[in-house]
Amino acid sequence: MRTGANWTGTNWAGNITFAARELHRPATPEALRALVAGAARVRVLGSGHSFNLIAEPGADGVLLSLDALPAEIDVDTTARTVRVGGGVRYAELARRVHEQGLALPNMASLPHISVAGSVATGTHGSGVRNGSLAAPVREVEVLTADGATVTVGRDDPRFGGAVTSLGALGVVTALTLDLSPAFEVEQHLFTELPLEGLDFETVAGAAYSVSLFTDWRAPGFRQVWLKRRTDQPLAAFPWATPATEALHPVPGMPAVHCTEQFGVPGPWHERLPHFRAEFTPSSGQELQSEYLMPREHALGALRALDGIRATVSPVLQTCEVRTVAADEQWLSPAYGRDSVAVHFTWVEDTAAVLPVVRAVEAALEPFAPRPHWGKVFETPAAALRERYPRLDDFAALVRELDPAGTFTNAFVRGVLES
Ligand SMILES: Cc1cc2nc3c(=O)[nH]c(=O)nc-3n(C[C@H](O)[C@H](O)[C@H](O)COP(=O)(O)OP(=O)(O)OC[C@H]3O[C@@H](n4cnc5c(N)ncnc54)[C@H](O)[C@@H]3O)c2cc1C
Repeated sequence: MRTGANWTGTNWAGNITFAARELHRPATPEALRALVAGAARVRVLGSGHSFNLIAEPGADGVLLSLDALPAEIDVDTTARTVRVGGGVRYAELARRVHEQGLALPNMASLPHISVAGSVATGTHGSGVRNGSLAAPVREVEVLTADGATVTVGRDDPRFGGAVTSLGALGVVTALTLDLSPAFEVEQHLFTELPLEGLDFETVAGAAYSVSLFTDWRAPGFRQVWLKRRTDQPLAAFPWATPATEALHPVPGMPAVHCTEQFGVPGPWHERLPHFRAEFTPSSGQELQSEYLMPREHALGALRALDGIRATVSPVLQTCEVRTVAADEQWLSPAYGRDSVAVHFTWVEDTAAVLPVVRAVEAALEPFAPRPHWGKVFETPAAALRERYPRLDDFAALVRELDPAGTFTNAFVRGVLES
């Protein structure tokens, strides 16, 4: 039990223990409103898939889970939008949207995460033309500490701070997302793509969504995952060898939990994530870190990591390289920059991993890396300030919507006061 906390609980990976005075699961909007009104410090827990203290209210605070509220998913087939409640997860949202012949543009590697929690941290999938999961959000509805409901849409000057908001504005009770007609995707996997001679732009643009995986035990990539929309051309991929067996991103893990491969076409939501909705995504015995950098620095960043692979590989399960299109969310790691995202799934050993995280950050420093808000990072506050030009605008929005700082926890304070 953490000092002074009446309640403790862990995140999905179990590497973080949250301290709170109480955890509540309100079952009605009225109960939610009463809990917010009665508390001096509040945070919302999504599906708990972040690897740091971003969701922790602190020992004097209240942690709210929205999973007992009615799971609102209201598809408007004419407007091609969906209004989704603050506790809903992508797996359920995607299934319901697909039933109506519609689609989200992209998904993360697993569908088990909540929509509100994902867009709050800038969670993303891959694709040179695909923005983060916040990109289709057109409106966000926030319950603020004074009990008001504030709705911020795309035409509101505050919108840039309202979606990727680290949970610092209030309880996100609903989001409205743009949809497109449903589409089908095939996954084509390849093995052994050398780093030497890599044309990153061509490889990253070879399909709708492209992921490269390496364990950094040798230069280059052990796996390439191409996710091709069947309504787009199938590009030749002469740089690597077609996979002959189903693969899991972590070498040696059985592929049974992974979405269908070998070019079998299927609905967008059963191919864009790497992991199937109906299975536990991976063991949970892991830590994760990720850094987004301007895409033109992709090769430089990969060469810098290759230079420290003897340090990285002993604590690494897999490293995934993706791309994310620039967006306009002030705190998005892809804000204003078409980005390359370099992700690390580490072994579950914080003491062994942290020095390597620092070594990775030092190696990537010339490329102004922005850490994923939901993962393990050691980036100093001063560097965050340099890399987020709209941080002061975000701080002003926090002061406007939450003047008493009810939703500001230690994590957010560290970002704002940098
Ligand atoms: C196995 C695994 C795979 C992953 N794959 C990817 C990936 O492919 N791409 C990627 O970018 N990231 C990935 N992540 C990271 C993950 O997407 C993020 O950590 C994301 O924020 C998790 O969503 P969550 O619902 O669990 O949020 P939580 O971790 O529960 O919360 C995150 C933040 O959102 C806030 N929040 C949640 N709900 C609300 C609400 N209703 N109102 C206000 N604030 C709220 C919380 O207070 C907190 O600040 C992965 C994580 C894991 C464990």
